[in-house]
Amino acid sequence: MLKVVKFGGSSMADAGQYQKIRDILSSDPSRRVVVVSAAGKRHSKDHKITDLLYLCHAHTQYGVDCTGVFDMITSRYLEIRDQLNIKLDLETEFADLKRRLDAKAVTQDELASRGEYFSAKLMAAYLDFQFIDSANWVKFNFDGTVDQDASYEALRSQVVMGKGAVIPGFYGLMPDGHIRTFSRGGSDITGSLAAAALNADVYENWTDVSGILMADPRIVDDPEAIPEVTYDELRELSYSGAQVLHEGSIFPVREKNIPLNIRNTNAPEDAGTLIKESFDADTDPNRFITGITGKKDFTIISMSKRGMSNQVGVLRKALTVLERHNLSVDYVPNGIDTVSLVLPTENVAPHLYTILGELQQDAEPDSIDVHDQIAVVAAVGRKMAFRPGISGKIFAALGEADINIRMINQGPDELNIIFGVDNKDFARAIRVLYHSFTK
Ligand code: ASP
Repeated sequence: MLKVVKFGGSSMADAGQYQKIRDILSSDPSRRVVVVSAAGKRHSKDHKITDLLYLCHAHTQYGVDCTGVFDMITSRYLEIRDQLNIKLDLETEFADLKRRLDAKAVTQDELASRGEYFSAKLMAAYLDFQFIDSANWVKFNFDGTVDQDASYEALRSQVVMGKGAVIPGFYGLMPDGHIRTFSRGGSDITGSLAAAALNADVYENWTDVSGILMADPRIVDDPEAIPEVTYDELRELSYSGAQVLHEGSIFPVREKNIPLNIRNTNAPEDAGTLIKESFDADTDPNRFITGITGKKDFTIISMSKRGMSNQVGVLRKALTVLERHNLSVDYVPNGIDTVSLVLPTENVAPHLYTILGELQQDAEPDSIDVHDQIAVVAAVGRKMAFRPGISGKIFAALGEADINIRMINQGPDELNIIFGVDNKDFARAIRVLYHSFTK
């Protein structure tokens, strides 16, 4: 049994968190491969090390001395080292890095990657685990994708059997020998790649919440965590607004059918959320909605034309207009003689009047209406499929709360029910649904 465990920034923020990690690892000996983020915030006013590293690089680019910021970074690591009594010389590497930085010889990506690098060095020394530098196994192609086969092979050849390993997240090496980082939050991807490379039984992603929550905690008080979610449901939830994992972290483990478990470093007794391709037995067959999410600020462009249903090509013409402006459309609800295009306002607003002109010219509708300040809410749940009455319950609950529905959309896979409401009703709609389905 092998578990690859990844700890995010808040789990790596100070010496106390390092101790929690050690306890988590010693409570389960199959947790042998550890992927770490850079130190995150210790409290809401604190700074993430990665942010400070980017800031430091920006200073040097403009010829501004970054010693103050650099010292903030190094002192975080030295403090953790000294509080935990770890015997490790970091000063020499810090001094060398600063010298190269002052000489403008460090790229932005290389500097940003040092947060994870020093985290991993420190954690490896603390746990007496092997340190495996991601520059030696995560191999990027020139186009920024990862060469999975070569990377997997390289990691497998470096892991020493019988000894635990600590791996820095977030970066790898380009074919030309330069360090490259993933986009922000990318240590999740490194963890997923490591789990796939080593054919782990589970990929545990440890963070500071007890799993993916059923609804946004800024909207619903103390929402329950989702115990089990499929990859397809997760995709729906994140597309419609829930921020959980880095998108790129799903593919490597999903491809190898490795379950992904989100856990809480500050509450290790909680089971968290388990993400798998499918679930055989249902732990809670009466829970039809897995999660509720959504986003505000959509624009609906509605076109109506008498006899539209009998005409060929109206929709194509409308979509071609959007394509010309490089806009992807999120939803296309339609009626017999109407069709609506639903897009995020921030994308469509800069071109709105040109687009309306082109739609009028190309699709020749009788009228075009534009509505903005629309929010889209998605109720996601694999168990809704082929079960009558769920949408009835949703719309009855919204109706009772006097919330007007501006649009309804459901795909034939019945994985979600999506509807539009006015922005002002967004939070209330989510609360109403949450409470009517968790009772
Ligand atoms: N440290 C990087 C960031 O802040 C990557 C990560 O933590 O996943 O984005």
